[in-house]
Amino acid sequence: MADPKGFLSTPRREWPRRPVGERVRDWNEVYVPGALLPIISKQADRCMDCGIPFCHQACPLGNLIPEWNDLVSREDWRAASDRLHATNNFPEFTGRLCPAPCEAGCVLAINQPAVTIKNVECAIADRAWEEGFVEPRPPERLSDRTVAVIGSGPTGLAAAQQLTRAGHTVAVYERDDRLGGLMRYGIPEFKMEKHHLDRRLEQMRAEGTRFRTSTVVGRDIDAAELRARYDVVVIATGATAWRELDVPGRELAGVHQAMEYLPPANRVREGDIEVSPLSAAGRHVVIVGGGDTGADCLGTAVRQGAASVTQLDIYAQPGTERDDDTEPWPTYPKIYRLSAAHEEAATLRTAPAADADARLFAASTLRFSGDADGHVRALHLVEVDARRRPLPGTERTLPADLVLLALGFSGPDRHDGLIDQLGIELTPRGTIARDAGFATNVPGVFAAGDAARGQSLIVWAIAEGRAVAAAVDRHLTGRSELPTPIGPYDRPMTV
Ligand SMILES: Cc1cc2nc3c(=O)[nH]c(=O)nc-3n(C[C@H](O)[C@H](O)[C@H](O)COP(=O)(O)OP(=O)(O)OC[C@H]3O[C@@H](n4cnc5c(N)ncnc54)[C@H](O)[C@@H]3O)c2cc1C
Ligand code: SF4
Repeated sequence: MADPKGFLSTPRREWPRRPVGERVRDWNEVYVPGALLPIISKQADRCMDCGIPFCHQACPLGNLIPEWNDLVSREDWRAASDRLHATNNFPEFTGRLCPAPCEAGCVLAINQPAVTIKNVECAIADRAWEEGFVEPRPPERLSDRTVAVIGSGPTGLAAAQQLTRAGHTVAVYERDDRLGGLMRYGIPEFKMEKHHLDRRLEQMRAEGTRFRTSTVVGRDIDAAELRARYDVVVIATGATAWRELDVPGRELAGVHQAMEYLPPANRVREGDIEVSPLSAAGRHVVIVGGGDTGADCLGTAVRQGAASVTQLDIYAQPGTERDDDTEPWPTYPKIYRLSAAHEEAATLRTAPAADADARLFAASTLRFSGDADGHVRALHLVEVDARRRPLPGTERTLPADLVLLALGFSGPDRHDGLIDQLGIELTPRGTIARDAGFATNVPGVFAAGDAARGQSLIVWAIAEGRAVAAAVDRHLTGRSELPTPIGPYDRPMTV
């Protein structure tokens, strides 16, 4: 660290967001362009370079956080980029999208605001691209071994990049017409502009990774045939089987899953269609589910010009401070967080919700009711206690002509036939079963990411992609020099 007392003299400052009224009128990222670099070296200087960096352990990738904080505080951007890319293939994704468990584990966070680690990571990644530090790194020699990766989300991309660099011939099969998994058609542009993704894909193509889009393995290609054609198959198909809400009125028109609603909105941004067929414009929108997917629906509905938006969360509103008894430092606490989308909700008349941030907590959906044409017009709810028991007399009705279900995902999609064609065993949870080396019950078939670990995060997806690549490389060659992220993979998800 350039200044050992930086944490005493410099207060935490985050990358500022653009004014709410401005950003809801476009789809660009919510941050003020160019406002991060001028502040970031001083922020990195707040790092105390602790003897035991808990942040490093809290990051599923094992990012070398104190090392690159020091390099940024000294403005040695090339070295910072090298250290960051040593553990993370795609830091511009995590620098924008990660919930930053590292910051919950920062030692400063014991009694003052944590170092802005995620912002430092993003600044290094963006600067590295600007300066031309990020170049294709094709392998020096080829191994003659072939790998098919199924799925082009962060897991599949990280695995493919690592295996290509190790000299294997890698083809990525993707059912969508574009690459990127949930980062392409799930996550809205205002959280991460897609040019970040396209730039990385260009780097991967230049390194030699091959991509086959619009190809559903299991339908367009028989999965067993694919297995016979390649030395190894890696399943990285994500967990896209969504959870249902089994209440009366679910069949009404206008009640949709979040992942039916978000992709067309992203397709408008890609230029495929002019208007989303599920646009929220002029509608009263109710989002069922209090998580990040729900928040993405909220930000999208606000930008589409919804008449009102309410997000229902079945859990009670958490406090603003960590509860030291139940969630002591350095765990990732469940606290009240105001995402960019929740800030934006204040621009609408969120009439039915009590709070300006559009959320109703401890709210459980009882049923939907509709008009004579079978279109949803209202959502009926009741308040619940901590054990989800209805509180008598708290029933209410919200106007709703677009309802979005954002209740999470249970595991990999079974409709494509991939799992059955290969004879893959599943866990009781419905995810793909695998051993500690990422191998499934079928020889030569490995599984990683959300498909195997269950619905998770991009940082975990990249970590799993890197780790499965090392396991596959070892399987193919008997040894591997590919780095594998720290941390046992059987530990419960901490975020
Ligand atoms: C709306 C939304 C917002 C999110 N926001 C965040 C966030 O801000 N931060 C964060 O950390 N996490 C976020 N997540 C979670 C994160 O996106 C996932 O954990 C991550 O993308 C999982 O990566 P993956 O590669 O395992 O799977 P996915 O990203 O789901 O990719 C799997 C890919 O496999 C393809 N595929 C599936 N079956 C087949 C087949 N048979 N043949 C060919 N291809 C196939 C799919 O089309 C898909 O492209 C969000 C999730 C959602 C739904
Ligand atoms: S990837 Fe996430 S946890 Fe790791 S350093 Fe970046 S923000 Fe922190």
